[in-house]
Amino acid sequence: MGSIIRHDKEDNALFVQQKKDYTINNYMKLDQSIVTPCYVYDLALLRQTLDTIISASAGMPARVHYALKANPDARIVAEVAQRGFGADCVSIGEVRHAIACGISADKCVYSGVGKTDPEIIEAIHLGIECFNVESLEELQIISHLASQNGKVAPIALRINPHIDAHTHHYITTGLAENKFGIDISLFDQALHLATTLPGLRFRGIHCHIGSQILTNEPFALLCTRINDLVARARQAGASVDYINVGGGLGVDYEEPVTNPIADFQGFFDTLRQGLDVPAGALIHCELGRSIVAQCGTILSCVIYVKEGLERHFVIIDAGMNNLIRPALYQAVHRIDNLSAPNGTPTATYDIVGPVCETADTFAEGYVLPRTRRGDILAIRSAGAYAESMASQYNLRQPAAVVYTEGEEIL
Ligand SMILES: *Cc1c(COP(=O)(O)O)cnc(C)c1O
Repeated sequence: MGSIIRHDKEDNALFVQQKKDYTINNYMKLDQSIVTPCYVYDLALLRQTLDTIISASAGMPARVHYALKANPDARIVAEVAQRGFGADCVSIGEVRHAIACGISADKCVYSGVGKTDPEIIEAIHLGIECFNVESLEELQIISHLASQNGKVAPIALRINPHIDAHTHHYITTGLAENKFGIDISLFDQALHLATTLPGLRFRGIHCHIGSQILTNEPFALLCTRINDLVARARQAGASVDYINVGGGLGVDYEEPVTNPIADFQGFFDTLRQGLDVPAGALIHCELGRSIVAQCGTILSCVIYVKEGLERHFVIIDAGMNNLIRPALYQAVHRIDNLSAPNGTPTATYDIVGPVCETADTFAEGYVLPRTRRGDILAIRSAGAYAESMASQYNLRQPAAVVYTEGEEIL
């Protein structure tokens, strides 16, 4: 305790501050001179999470590909790379970035419904491990572009397995009539193209059924679907080298401080029990949120507390430009007031940002200790899909980033 929150972004005048311990009323307060809003990333928790994944998957022929879109912060990706993980990329920008952060191209897989010709050509030249192909037309195009460039492109078929992951409709991806993947009814046709087009080398099957999945059943069902597809491919004479189950493991947004590590054991045990893996084949998993969500906290300062007729608004300096999940998917993040002394009476607030959109609301009817101008709020579980989805809407500047090593933010 009392150690230092280090600042580490190349370009700016933002600075490092010491965490001061105002234990008088048994509360911690960050030095007021810290610049808010900022993202605080706990690298010790990240390492602990990565180590948990490694032990939970021990003994399995598996490689985890970190879904870069959850958070492409270079220090985070470098930690992931050091552990030998691969990368799951959804644009050529992410492929380049993964490589720049130390993940070799032959551990990068590339998904996405709208890969452009230049993106495909570059990925072929970079020598990525595998394209996850999302349509029959894309198979034709990749084959054509690979042949034109004198190459053969490794591909896996991204199949939409019609599984309801029981998650928000904007983050479910495995249902019928979803834009992602090749419909399971077209599997035979896709397999035929994948194994006969001259510019393709068929490597395996890929599915990704959604995100923030908190029970094992959807994954167990996924295993049975994938086993069936693998068996069909093998019956057709194709060798299956990669069995890619995608990502989607959820985290505890309600109790992030007491339960910071996702149920990786349950996830990998489900795969262990459920998947029939042909000899020599490798399981790929593409975890994003569950690796980084709990490592991140947004610190934000209360600018005003505004008394409405019936509602009390806490207006903070972080907005949907820093964290769009509540506006986009009605996501609920836990928010704590770091400045209020223990025992402060509570009140009910709408916690809103400064952006000129009504959707710029973090929480409605949220109970906090009585809150005042200048208080620092912590928005928890902001390591995934927060900074990576940030915008400069309203010409707001990007928020600062600070890295910590296991300090608690309480
Ligand atoms: C977003 C995405 C992931 C990661 O999902 P999480 O819910 O963050 O684990 C994995 N695979 C693909 C193809 C994705 O688009």
